[in-house]
Amino acid sequence: MLQALSRPLAAAVGLSLVLVAPAAAVGDDGTDEVQGTFVRLAVELRDGGHLELTGIERPDGSWLRVDPATVEDVVGGSEVVATVEDASAAPTAVLDEDAGTPVVSVDVVETPTLAAAAAEPTVATTTREVDVVVARMAGVDMAPASAATVAADVTDHVAPYWSDQTAGGVDLVVDEQVTAPTYTSWGSEWTCTDTQILALMSWAEQQVTDRTTPGHVVLETPIVLCPFLGVATVSDGGVVWLNAPDVDSGLPRLRPGTLAHEIGHNLLLGHSDLRGYCGLDSRSADGSADQCQEQEYGDLYDIMGAATGEMGSLSGAHLHTLGLAPEGSWVEATGTQTVTLQPVGGLTGQRFLELPGDGVTHVVELRTAVGRDAFVGTNPSATFGPGVVVRRIDPAGPGQHTALLVADVAAEQIELGTGDSFATEDGRWSVEVTSLGGTATLDVTHHAPAARPTDVTVTPTTTVEGEAWTSAQEPTVTWTADELEGNTGFEVVELASGLVVAAAGDARSADVALPEGAAYLAVRTVAANGAVRWSSLTPVQVDRTAPVFASVPQVRLRGGSVSTSWGVPVRLAWQATDAGLLTGAEVEGPGGEGLAPGASALGTSVTPGPSAWTVRVEDAVGASAQASEQTTLVARAESAAAPTGTWSTVADTRHLDGRAMRSSKRLSAMSYTFTGSSIGWIATKSANSGRVTVYVDGAKQGTVDLQASASAFRQVVFTKTWPTAGKHTIRIVSQGTAGRPYVYSDGFAVLK
Ligand SMILES: [Zn+2]
Repeated sequence: MLQALSRPLAAAVGLSLVLVAPAAAVGDDGTDEVQGTFVRLAVELRDGGHLELTGIERPDGSWLRVDPATVEDVVGGSEVVATVEDASAAPTAVLDEDAGTPVVSVDVVETPTLAAAAAEPTVATTTREVDVVVARMAGVDMAPASAATVAADVTDHVAPYWSDQTAGGVDLVVDEQVTAPTYTSWGSEWTCTDTQILALMSWAEQQVTDRTTPGHVVLETPIVLCPFLGVATVSDGGVVWLNAPDVDSGLPRLRPGTLAHEIGHNLLLGHSDLRGYCGLDSRSADGSADQCQEQEYGDLYDIMGAATGEMGSLSGAHLHTLGLAPEGSWVEATGTQTVTLQPVGGLTGQRFLELPGDGVTHVVELRTAVGRDAFVGTNPSATFGPGVVVRRIDPAGPGQHTALLVADVAAEQIELGTGDSFATEDGRWSVEVTSLGGTATLDVTHHAPAARPTDVTVTPTTTVEGEAWTSAQEPTVTWTADELEGNTGFEVVELASGLVVAAAGDARSADVALPEGAAYLAVRTVAANGAVRWSSLTPVQVDRTAPVFASVPQVRLRGGSVSTSWGVPVRLAWQATDAGLLTGAEVEGPGGEGLAPGASALGTSVTPGPSAWTVRVEDAVGASAQASEQTTLVARAESAAAPTGTWSTVADTRHLDGRAMRSSKRLSAMSYTFTGSSIGWIATKSANSGRVTVYVDGAKQGTVDLQASASAFRQVVFTKTWPTAGKHTIRIVSQGTAGRPYVYSDGFAVLK
C-alpha cells in the first residue's frame, strides 16, 4: 500500500485493507472500472529532466498506469473509482512516457485534506512525522547511508527549512529510524518499471511500525541503476525515495535540498518552471503554458525549481498553493495602490503581492541576497539576479507547476529593477517598480480588463488537405469576445504583413480585403494598460484566379502494341497551372476514366476515325478551366507504301489484316507519304529480325532494331510528331543485319 496509510480512514483500519480484492469490472462498451488510490509520482531524472507518473494503485497493491492528460484535476492520494479504456496494462519502463491507459471518467471518493485548504492563504499548523528507512538492495554491493545520517539531514536542514518558510505551518519531526533488511523483491533484471518503483516504496512504508497521517517515509538506498535521483509521491504526505550514492563510493551525498524538494512534492507541490516568450508577438496571447516557451525547473530562485542545492526560499506562489502564507506576509491588490515589499529571504513583513484574475493568479515578490536567498546574484547567469519577480499560477489541480515569468517582456528579463514594469496578460493589472533597495516599492494600477477574442472563423472557405481556402473578394472574419469595459475595439490583423485589415469597433465580425496568397489572421483588442489581447492564429489561403493551361492538351502516337482491330496507342498530355492549389483533373474521352487528381497526361489507344477529349482542371476553391483536343486516326496497311528492293507478302492472322511484307535484303526500302501531325510505323519483332534505318522527309532519324527473343506482332516501333499537320514522307531501309536480316513491315498509323 503506497498511499492508503496516509489517509485517516485507512490509518484507522490498518493493513487489513490489503486483503480487499481489487474492484474491476468490464463495462458493456469494453471499458474497465478500477478502484483504488490515485498516485502521482514526481521523478527527478539524473539528466536534469523530470517525469510525472500517474496511476491507480488497487487495494491489492497492483498498479495501473494512466494517461496523465486525462486526470489533470485529480489530486494525488485521492481515493477514486475510474472508468478506463484498458485495465490490463502491463508494467512499463519508467521512461516510457506513452504508457498509460486513458481514463474515460473518474469519481473522486475522498480527497486528501491539504488540497482543500488552498483557496485563500491562511496559516495552518501541522506536525508531520518523518520516518527514515535505509536499505541495501539485493544484488547491489553498496551500502546506504546510516539511518542516523539521513535523520540528521532532516533534523538539521530539511525540517528547519520547511518550518521557517511556512512560519511553523509545516513542522517535520523525525520519528522512526529504521535500518531495514536487504530489499530482495526488485528482481534480477535491473529494469526500472513503475511497478518495481511502487513496490519498493510500499515496502519502505511497511518497514515503519507506526505510520501517522499526514506523514512522510524517506527511503534511502544506494544507487539502483535507474535514471533518476529521487522519486516522490505528489500527495498530502507520502513517500520519498532517494536513489543516493553509495556511502563508501566517495561521491558527495545528495544535498539536503534534494530531500527538501521531494518533501515539497509530499506537500502537493509541483515544480517551479520558467515561462516566457509568449504568443504571437512580444506581449500577446493569454500567457498560458501552451502559448509560451516553458522550461521545467527553470525557476532558479526556488526550492521546487533548479535551486535544490541552494535551498532557496519557497515562493509566494507555492505558499499560496499550500494555503500556508504566514500572517501579515500577504497583500491582495484591490485597486490602484502603492505596495511596499520586504525581501522574501528576510521572513518578516509584507512580502507577497497577489494580483487576482479570472482563474489565473499572479504573485509578485522581492528576491535579494537575504537569509536563505543569500546566493541570489552570485549566479553567473545574468537572468538570475536580485529584483522583483512575478510568478503565475494557472487554474488546475494541486501538483500544478508554478511559472516564474520573464516579467520584463521588452528587455527579456526575469527580474524587474527600478523603473521596470509588468502587466498581466488580461490587461487587468500593471506594476511598476518605483524604488528598489532593501525593500521594493511598487505602483500597482488596476485597469478595466479587455476580452481576448476567441473562436475566429473565416467564411466562406473550403478545407483542402487541412488548409482553408477562399476565393471571396472580401471574406468575412467572425469571432467571439466577452463584453468587458476595457475593450478598445477589435482589429483584424494580417500577421505576415503586420497590416490591420479591418477595424471592427465593437462588432464581432468584419469583411476583410486580402491579397491573393497565404494570409495569417488574428483578432486583437488593446487593454487600457497597453496589453494586447490576441486571438489565436487563423491561416487562410486566398485564390481568386482560375487555373490556366500552360500548354493545351495534345495527342500523339506512342510506342506499344496495336490491337488486331487497329487500336493504336496514343498519349494525351497537357500542363495546367494555378496560383493556389490544383486539386483535380477530369478528362472526357478515350482513357479518361479514373485519372489521378494531379495527372497531366494519359495513355490510351484510339481506333481508326475521329477521337476527342475535353480536359477540365480545378483548383482548391473550385475554379476550373477546360480545353479540348481532337484527332482522326488513319490506318494504312504496309501495301500502301511504295517498296523498292526485294519484298514478299507473308500471311499470318497475327499481322494486321492478316498480312505483312517481309524483306531479307540489305537496302530494300519502303516509302510512305502521308498528311498528318503524327506518324507511327508498325512492324513485327522476332529473333531473326534485324536493324532498319528510318528517314523522314529525307532526313535520317536513326536506327530501329527489330530483334526480340520472343516474337511480338503489331508493334509501333517508330513515331514522330509535329505541332501541326503537314505532308511528310517516311522511308525505312533494311540494313541487312548479319545472321538476322529480316524486316517485317505491318503498316502505318497517322493522326490527322
Ligand atoms: Zn521534483
